[in-house]
Amino acid sequence: MQIETEMTPAFIGLGSNVGDREENIKKAISLLKNNRKIKVKKVSSLYETEPVGYVDQGEFLNAAIEIETDLTPHELLKVTKGIEEKLKRDRKIKWGPRTIDLDILLFGDLRIDEPHLNVPHPEIKNRAFVLIPLAEIAGQIIHPDGKTIDDLLRELIDVKSVRKYR
Ligand code: ATP
Ligand code: CA
Ligand code: CA
Repeated sequence: MQIETEMTPAFIGLGSNVGDREENIKKAISLLKNNRKIKVKKVSSLYETEPVGYVDQGEFLNAAIEIETDLTPHELLKVTKGIEEKLKRDRKIKWGPRTIDLDILLFGDLRIDEPHLNVPHPEIKNRAFVLIPLAEIAGQIIHPDGKTIDDLLRELIDVKSVRKYR
């Protein structure tokens, strides 16, 4: 008998601003799909966004996806880092150019505060390039702090630098 185990819903933010950005995001999603313990449930549109932090670099494409997974958050982080590695991400400059960046945004209702893993991702509420794609697929999801993603997006002041791309 096959026993169905409970899978946890989680959200991942993707970004790319080097090479074929759309292809990099698609490849990362298909690599996630290849993992037996990950089901990709929803994929947002792609959004083109101006870089923040280190601004002397090309515009980003950003997206958000919903998955369901049997992995622990730490195992999922290992998988996302493996995909970044595989797509040859280079970490020379903090917040600098990258072929692919995969951030775990939310993992069920879990809160994790460890040196190498913070969930929910601490910058969600400050970043239009995260909230806009996330709201497209998860507007009514409640962040562990108690507000929906739509609420967080309404409270964000500057959303000008994010445009729908495709
Ligand atoms: P930011 O996290 O502000 O978006 P970044 O994505 O450019 O910055 P990275 O260089 O990709 O930062 O990651 C640095 C480290 O962040 C990773 O090695 C990872 O261990 C850690 N980290 C902590 N929380 C998370 C999370 N929720 N998702 C992904 N990585 C995380
Ligand atoms: Ca990031
Ligand atoms: Ca990251």
